[in-house]
Amino acid sequence: MARLGLIVRGVVQGVGFRPFVYRIARAHGLAGFVQNQRGRVAIEVQGERDALDAFLAELGAAEAPARVDEIVATEMPETDAEPFVIRSSEASSEVRATLPADLATCADCQREVATPGERRYRYPFTNCTRCGPRYSIVESLPYDRARTSMKGFALCAACAAEYANVADRRFHAQPIACPKCGPRIWLLDAAGVEVARDDAALDQAVRLLCSGRILALRGLGGFQLLCDATDDAAVQRLRERKRREQKPFALLFPDLSAVRAAAKLSFDEERALMGPEAPIVLLRRTPGARVAPAVAPDSPLIGVMLPYTPLHALLVEAAARALVCTSGNLSEEPMATDLDDALERLGAIADAFLTHDRPIVRPVDDSLVRLGPRGTAILRRARGFAPQPVAKIDAPVAVLALGAHMKGSIALCQRGEIILSQHLGDLESPSAVRLLERTIDDFLAFFDAKPDVVACDLHPDYASTRVAERIAGELGARICRVQHHHAHVAAVMAEHGIDDPVLGLAWDGTGFGSDGTVWGGEVLRVNAAGFERVAALRGFRLPGGDRAMREPRRSALGLVHAMDPERAEALAEEWFGERDGHVLSSMLAQEIGSPLTSSMGRLFDAVAALVDLGPRASFEGQIAMQLEHLAERGRGAPWPIPFEASNPLRLDWRPMLEALLSERDRGVDRADLAASFHASLAELALRVVGHFSPARVVLGGGCFQNRLLETATIELCEREGFSVLTPRTVPVNDGGIAVGQAWAAAHAAG
Ligand code: ZN
Ligand code: ZN
Ligand code: FE
Repeated sequence: MARLGLIVRGVVQGVGFRPFVYRIARAHGLAGFVQNQRGRVAIEVQGERDALDAFLAELGAAEAPARVDEIVATEMPETDAEPFVIRSSEASSEVRATLPADLATCADCQREVATPGERRYRYPFTNCTRCGPRYSIVESLPYDRARTSMKGFALCAACAAEYANVADRRFHAQPIACPKCGPRIWLLDAAGVEVARDDAALDQAVRLLCSGRILALRGLGGFQLLCDATDDAAVQRLRERKRREQKPFALLFPDLSAVRAAAKLSFDEERALMGPEAPIVLLRRTPGARVAPAVAPDSPLIGVMLPYTPLHALLVEAAARALVCTSGNLSEEPMATDLDDALERLGAIADAFLTHDRPIVRPVDDSLVRLGPRGTAILRRARGFAPQPVAKIDAPVAVLALGAHMKGSIALCQRGEIILSQHLGDLESPSAVRLLERTIDDFLAFFDAKPDVVACDLHPDYASTRVAERIAGELGARICRVQHHHAHVAAVMAEHGIDDPVLGLAWDGTGFGSDGTVWGGEVLRVNAAGFERVAALRGFRLPGGDRAMREPRRSALGLVHAMDPERAEALAEEWFGERDGHVLSSMLAQEIGSPLTSSMGRLFDAVAALVDLGPRASFEGQIAMQLEHLAERGRGAPWPIPFEASNPLRLDWRPMLEALLSERDRGVDRADLAASFHASLAELALRVVGHFSPARVVLGGGCFQNRLLETATIELCEREGFSVLTPRTVPVNDGGIAVGQAWAAAHAAG
């Protein structure tokens, strides 16, 4: 006989972990208890050694969505053997840190929904302790039904019995519901008039989808827009109405076999699709896939997800085809969550509305992952992941970090960890800024936070910077401005728990530099105390500044101008016509409205424009993505990018540009030019790393969303014996900036 005290960490709260512990303890005839504590679960078990060993083995192998990261066991004196119980949680202040993420329908619930005769047959809101809404319905903590948007639905007798039965899969499942007592669905026409309820609403919605109509669906974390993804005209119509020209749409597939018929699927990608987070996974589409071209123009990739609520499953299974499933908004505003808001904002887009009466407390987008050289990496962290911690940190202060401007998110550093919020979208609209402010309020309340420091970007005009200045004043906190690319590198250090010096390649779109110019092709030496800019791309000018983001030819003009002004002038006239071309040329010549930049993202744009990938991009990085896909089909040797001796070291792209132009003019295939460009950058990375010979290399910034560049850079550097770190749980793009700000500000204060 023995008694063990166990502390379990991992994903162990809000996922049915305590009933699981209860069942296995009882199964092995053990005495003791299990209890939720702040951010962890405490267990005491007493019994025969064999039984304890068997219990520990099963405990460590807890199934998703639960995940055991660590079990710390200590021997304890035996006590009277009381039967195993679930003890009530510690005082509420101690369990505040528990805020579970929304989880996709589990296999058991899927089976119930699909089985005629079951109480919840075809019920769109079926869930249990292992699945269902969480973060999107929580109003305050601790996480109990009375503090969720399910509070208005009184449990029927059958649901109440399940809720109270410790042996039931729905023991203490806060959003528990059934057709008798839970939320319902109904269908409205475009004018907002109800036309059907329940099953009839589902049937009609499916008929509309299959006849090419656009459906606004009130989903889990907000309204989404759906249409038949095999119908090119329907997809085009959605693009026109949503004013989204080319950015790929995510697709909802009925099941895994349908995905397999449309895309190549590796083991890791399949696992990501099927996981409880059920993100959108970027996959390579197979030729002949039944997917309309307008879904992802000019891209060999499609973003695919499987149904994560019974409502999505019922719709897409009945439609029996892939559906476009994109967030319900105009351009990049936050999603609509309320029906009235949706009717107003989406009325001109949708032909009908399928809605329900379970309020959505906060918008939560679909997450996005893709497989990289190191396994799956999260590019947009939202549903299923938020608001879970992404890093452990030993920090003397609490920090609230407000992120960047595009792909906004916030992070909170306190009590030894950094928690990252859901993706908040680009802070370009007043509604997006309001969402940022609301998320700050949420985090301060949920995590009982009293930040000593508010961190933000160095950019004076980011909306997040202005909010930070105001919030810091209100909270009486210090403000800490963290340079954008420093934050990119620090985010990766935070994820990997590294304080030792690293060499960071922050290859990015644009960010405000410490010298007031626009940075983006940076090599930084970063340690806990701060950073030093040791190398950067040679500067060039962007005529029209931010407009270059959507017009890659402006970057190309700036680049060519820095090498050969006359050639740039001719190019300006060819591309923009005599009048506009002349304006652009004189802006460059007189250095008016043409900020100096070292941006790698704009270098990508410039090269893409020079190999003639088109005059305009409908979203940032679009043309760089096309360049990557082009390069996959080509072969080419690297072009020279020598170092200019200076401090910081200048990476001189001019010889590369010369080689590019001469090969292009000789008629070398565009794919080969694109391949040479990618090879040049990977080779440049290796030479930079070799020059500084650091213990560790970190890759950060939006350019490393480019899988070809990331893979080649890692391979080259590792072949020479350098250790390379990339982020996987923190987005490599600006969605991860808040984590880096929190990390840098916490260390700067230490
Ligand atoms: Zn379930
Ligand atoms: Zn019920
Ligand atoms: Fe960035």
